[in-house]
Amino acid sequence: MLLLVFAAAAVLLAGCAGAPPRGEAPSAPPALPAGREPAPSAPPFRGGVPSALPRLKVPEIASGRPVRVLLGGAQKEIRIAGESIRAWSAAGAPVAGGEGAVALSVIGEKIRWGAGKLLDSPIDVASPSGMRIDGKPLVARVRVSARGAMLYAVAVVPLEEYVAAVASREAPPSFHPEALSALAVAVRTYALLSMEKPREPTHDVVAGVEDQVFEGLDHVAEVFRKAAAATRGEVLSYRGSLARAVFHSTCGGRTENAKDAWGSDVPYLRSVACDDCLESPARKWEYRMTAKEGKRIALSLGVRAKEDLKISVAVRSSTGRAGKIRISSNGVSREVAAAAFRKEAGYARVKSLKMEIVPVGNGWSIAGEG
Ligand SMILES: [Zn+2]
Repeated sequence: MLLLVFAAAAVLLAGCAGAPPRGEAPSAPPALPAGREPAPSAPPFRGGVPSALPRLKVPEIASGRPVRVLLGGAQKEIRIAGESIRAWSAAGAPVAGGEGAVALSVIGEKIRWGAGKLLDSPIDVASPSGMRIDGKPLVARVRVSARGAMLYAVAVVPLEEYVAAVASREAPPSFHPEALSALAVAVRTYALLSMEKPREPTHDVVAGVEDQVFEGLDHVAEVFRKAAAATRGEVLSYRGSLARAVFHSTCGGRTENAKDAWGSDVPYLRSVACDDCLESPARKWEYRMTAKEGKRIALSLGVRAKEDLKISVAVRSSTGRAGKIRISSNGVSREVAAAAFRKEAGYARVKSLKMEIVPVGNGWSIAGEG
């Protein structure tokens, strides 16, 4: 998800046309992960957007287990820095320790601790004063596992600390305290729904924009801790279940229907007009894509491109967002999901699907809103 939220109402009620929903491969058939949709017995929502979704206290979930956040992706080596670093086996037996720094590498399905012993995967690593993993996030505890000759580091973060930390990266501290409180509720709800249906058996969320931006527990301003504390245990629900509390920075004037964004309807994520983000610095964007980059993207999406490569928007949703992109070259023409194109080009470059693709020189200008 992206930086900034411009109005509490938009946070809580508006559909999101930003990053695709968690767990959904853009090329896969349009379906939400099981259990993420409203109960089948729920009657369809009618009459536009509800005036307010109830905030529900769910202390029994909120006080439960921590959030498991995948830091980065598969890695050959993980460097951990901290004081009195200790490691335990999955069964809780102490297996290793170190001072200052330790590099973990992978040998088959085992984890090598520094230059020393091989440990069974997974291990839990902790330091009383917090650790930096590969120089970045400061967390108190991390589970490291070896799979397929790669290492994965999953930070284990208490829910309310996670909420404050994410809010601090998704909005600036200058926002109104009530807007930050609304964001905290959305972040918490998103996390709890992810914990109900984890992305993978090993973790609930990833640390990036595919879920919610998490950069560790340091540099979290007091206003974000206050927003989390002021809403502690509060979530958004829809008909008794956790709502999909997706949020975005800037919609560009109109939010998207969930069905058009993801292929599957969510009754309370309906397109609404919005003028709250008119002043947003992310209102308009442009990305100049080179011919070389266009060819790379085309290849990864199944078209081996020559010099005659053409890329254009083939299908648009009712709100004007790109639904399908046509990629043609050398007698081959393919329509791919615009979300897949955006993912391949990079979420930070192609910032939304509300875009135009125009050939310029040897490459393209991709310009959009939101
Ligand atoms: Zn907007």
